[in-house]
Amino acid sequence: MNHPAAPNGGIAASLGQATAYQIEGLAMEFEPVIGLEVHAQLKTKTKIFCGCSTSFGAPPNTHTCPVCLGMPGVLPVLNKKVVDYTLRMALATNCEIAPESRFARKNYFYPDLPKGYQISQYELPIAEHGFIDIEVNGGQQRIGITRIHMEEDAGKLGHDPGRPLSMVDFNRTGVPLIEIVSEPDIRSAEAAGAYLRQLRSIVRYLGICDGNLEEGSFRCDANVSIRPRGEEKLGTRTELKNLNSFKHVEKALLYEISRQKETLLDGGKIVQETRLWDPAKNKTASMRGKEEAHDYRYFPDPDLLPLVIDSQWIQSIQKSLPELPDQKKKRFMEQFDLPSYDAGLLTSDRELADYFEACVRRFPQPKTVSNWVMGSLLGLLNAQDKTIAYSPVSPQNLARLLELIEAGVISGKIAKTVFDEMARTGNPAKQIVAEKGLVQITDTDAIDDVVARIISSNPKEVEAYQNGKAKLLGFFVGQVMKETRGKANPKLVNEILKKKLA
Ligand SMILES: [Zn+2]
Repeated sequence: MNHPAAPNGGIAASLGQATAYQIEGLAMEFEPVIGLEVHAQLKTKTKIFCGCSTSFGAPPNTHTCPVCLGMPGVLPVLNKKVVDYTLRMALATNCEIAPESRFARKNYFYPDLPKGYQISQYELPIAEHGFIDIEVNGGQQRIGITRIHMEEDAGKLGHDPGRPLSMVDFNRTGVPLIEIVSEPDIRSAEAAGAYLRQLRSIVRYLGICDGNLEEGSFRCDANVSIRPRGEEKLGTRTELKNLNSFKHVEKALLYEISRQKETLLDGGKIVQETRLWDPAKNKTASMRGKEEAHDYRYFPDPDLLPLVIDSQWIQSIQKSLPELPDQKKKRFMEQFDLPSYDAGLLTSDRELADYFEACVRRFPQPKTVSNWVMGSLLGLLNAQDKTIAYSPVSPQNLARLLELIEAGVISGKIAKTVFDEMARTGNPAKQIVAEKGLVQITDTDAIDDVVARIISSNPKEVEAYQNGKAKLLGFFVGQVMKETRGKANPKLVNEILKKKLA
């Protein structure tokens, strides 16, 4: 950099250096290193080691038995469905399946844990070394899956603020969970969100978990550290908890990354600890330090035999897998010639993809259907906080609406009004168009009349147009559409106007 020559050139130069140094320090690029641990609750009818129901909403402690209450002398029996579901997830995430895995006891005392230990897999999990591909900023990234293991859930404590007592409900005790642990491959809050969404999409496609973050059937903890870009060694990490929506995960990570950055730039040190995300204050706060970390004294559970999985079992599960989000996206791009963005969004949810395909079967113009589904339909569902399963407009009715546009019965603009009316009433498009008199005017004579009126009442604009101000055509089209309350066929209006104004 050149500094202007000045009498105090020496000072200027050293100032310049200082500034450069400071800027370098501030701009020192840190790279976040993020790993996620996801607990997904499996949708089996019964618990993992007994026949009690897993359904929710029952009166407290009614879905319990001596096994899940941890009575002395009882023996757990592994639910085969739990293994089937875990294998589905393991295969869908490209994991290696262990021919033999074990359950262990994770020992700790807590009132919601009647046995005094939780049965989980520890040293020998059922699946390891997998990966999924995610899309961030239009590019693809591969995130490694360290392991997937099975475990049982604990009970639930309820605290009565009015009285000095806590109550425990064991209905949830023994509900099956899988824990999916990622490699520390994630480099941004955005990528963490993309990874979680993809994982959730997969469990929902597989039908093994409903993926509900708010209700806790899909929970996430995040490990995050930062290091100067280019550095191999990992920084000290903190663990974030209480992340019960995608938005919270991303916000908590953004906050924690900048908190760690500021601490380091101020010359401080990161302490290894667990931090809780506080959505009301938009910050994380220390929950417990490393010195309080538990030693769970894991050991193999002597009540459960090693779990042996042969290749036949794996093959039968492999054969039962549905088309997964990645595969469906690829097919949508090839079969329907859709852009990557459309295909990704439409296949992010299996039911949404099914809706799209049902609509395209009736109205085989995929891009048009995609535009309507992504625009009007998803806009409506988001506004009403509904999922596609509760769409007030069926795929058949949307297809019929598009047929009316295609046939020239209504204009695209009127179609939006008809769509809103369909959503409100559930009536088919044809009926709404007939009742509200929305049929498009394609009668040339009728449009001729309107055009003639518009031309004679706007002499100044006509003159300007004829003197070369071509973009005034839009003004005339607008006037005609206004006059016909949006019902004139826009193509005809354009043609007639051009002819009459020439
Ligand atoms: Zn039970």
